[in-house]
Amino acid sequence: MKCLILAAGYATRLYPLTENFPKPLLKVAGKPIIDWLVDDIMAIGLVDGFVVISNHKFARHFRDWADSRSSQFERSEGSPSFTVVDDGTSTNETRLGAVRDIQFAVESLGLDDNLLVVAGDNILDFSLADFISYASAKRASCIMRYYEADEKRLRKSGIVEIDSEDRIVGMEEKPAEPPKPVEPRPDGKPVQDPSKCIYCTFCSRKCPAGALTVDRAAKTWSLDEDMCIGCGNCYEVCPKKAIVL
Ligand code: SF4
Ligand code: SF4
Repeated sequence: MKCLILAAGYATRLYPLTENFPKPLLKVAGKPIIDWLVDDIMAIGLVDGFVVISNHKFARHFRDWADSRSSQFERSEGSPSFTVVDDGTSTNETRLGAVRDIQFAVESLGLDDNLLVVAGDNILDFSLADFISYASAKRASCIMRYYEADEKRLRKSGIVEIDSEDRIVGMEEKPAEPPKPVEPRPDGKPVQDPSKCIYCTFCSRKCPAGALTVDRAAKTWSLDEDMCIGCGNCYEVCPKKAIVL
């Protein structure tokens, strides 16, 4: 699997900080943003090559970065490759945008491997490991989503509609009238009854907020109360009535 890192934007909202320096290479807590991503993905161990898509203005910075990452692995067997693709644009007005940049990199390098596509300027406070294992098990194109209740943020987001199998059946970009957030049930947050739970994972798979983690093999069930929106889906789908609200 190759990891395609989108890094061809101009981050104009961060000017003057990013006027002459690419945002993904800015340091956060002593380490470039892009390295937080790359280190997490490398630790998962399924990616054998990283491809950074840069604009022409910042390509030199990314090449320096790629050279320095490559030199860390010199002579070690199975080390990942680091490649930079220059999309040839030099201004925000002429940028290709994410989708055309992906197409440009795929066609320029003749990529026919599975691809993990990530934005190079995001700091994540979680590992991508779960997403990669989910996508590998599904053997289908997958995207990450999260539950957002804030109406202002929803107006600036792409909103997906999913069916009961988690398939995307609709998508709207930055809607003027976003769908209303799920009303929390008045009966509170879910509590598991371990004596009834068979760790089937139905509840975690139907949780729109990603608040539940169930590990079938380890027989563990945990709830992130801060993420739970109290929708009651887990309670509804549990075949053993092992959830109490
Ligand atoms: S759906 Fe019910 S039985 Fe299955 S893991 Fe969740 S709580 Fe346990
Ligand atoms: S109540 Fe809703 S949000 Fe909370 S854990 Fe259950 S399914 Fe997830």
